[in-house]
Amino acid sequence: MKVVVDKNSGFCFGVVRAINTAESELNKSVELFCLGEIVHNGIEVKRLEGLGLKIITNDEFRKMHDCKVLIRAHGEHPNTYLIAKHNNIELIDASCPVVLKLQERIKIGYNEIKKSNGQIVIFGKLGHAEVIGLAGQTNEEAIIITNESDLEKIDYSRPIRLFSQTTMSKDYYNYIVSIIKQRIAELNPDNIADIIIYDTICGRVTNRVQQIEKFASIFDIIIFVSGKNSSNGMFLFGISKSINKNTHLVSDCADLQMDWFNGFKTVGVCGATSTPMWLMEKVAKEIEKI
Ligand code: SF4
Repeated sequence: MKVVVDKNSGFCFGVVRAINTAESELNKSVELFCLGEIVHNGIEVKRLEGLGLKIITNDEFRKMHDCKVLIRAHGEHPNTYLIAKHNNIELIDASCPVVLKLQERIKIGYNEIKKSNGQIVIFGKLGHAEVIGLAGQTNEEAIIITNESDLEKIDYSRPIRLFSQTTMSKDYYNYIVSIIKQRIAELNPDNIADIIIYDTICGRVTNRVQQIEKFASIFDIIIFVSGKNSSNGMFLFGISKSINKNTHLVSDCADLQMDWFNGFKTVGVCGATSTPMWLMEKVAKEIEKI
């Protein structure tokens, strides 16, 4: 059986940067905490915990003093910075520069739009760390849209500034945009609407869709390696499955099932932007033994 690992899969530069920052801090610090899982991949988290990284929750963070805390690539709510200042916590800020730029754009948009009684709308996953940080730029006034049913929350007679979480589906974003435009047009036949739509989905995610589609189409079977709690992972797994129905999700070698490979000659191993390359290579080696 021929087994090939997708060279385009694996951590995006934002996650690589956060992990490198954590490793270099762990080399010089006695203790380093990380606010939330540094990456949505349990196995990589365990590896970093083995080097001394301690994952903490927001509740734990609020009670801590005089220590070092790493901010992961998703970015943080402004309150996190205030709490750190108040509790003498040194923040090691590994927020992805793309997310920081988006936070800044939303903050500027919010300060402008509130003068004309407008609304900031964010297309993203309610409760996701990145979205919490983005909504924090708007004094929690942003309207969060995850799917079509949430569109009832928007007042179409008022100005709108629309942004997206960086890891959302571009196609679904375009669909949501088309419905918003349609609702504005129904309300306002002259089509004089004050709406600005920002293209804020990360290029790293957008490119991955085409790359996965191509990769999934050239192998008999695809083994997609990802943590089930990775939103990017579940999205890309769905893309792969839509192209190649013999796509299987595994988080590690233990999830591999022998009967998946019966009668097939070529296997492609790929993963999400939160999947470490070393893990995909480990899974590929295990498949080679089969
Ligand atoms: S997906 Fe893009 S925005 Fe998100 S952490 Fe990676 S590089 Fe940054």
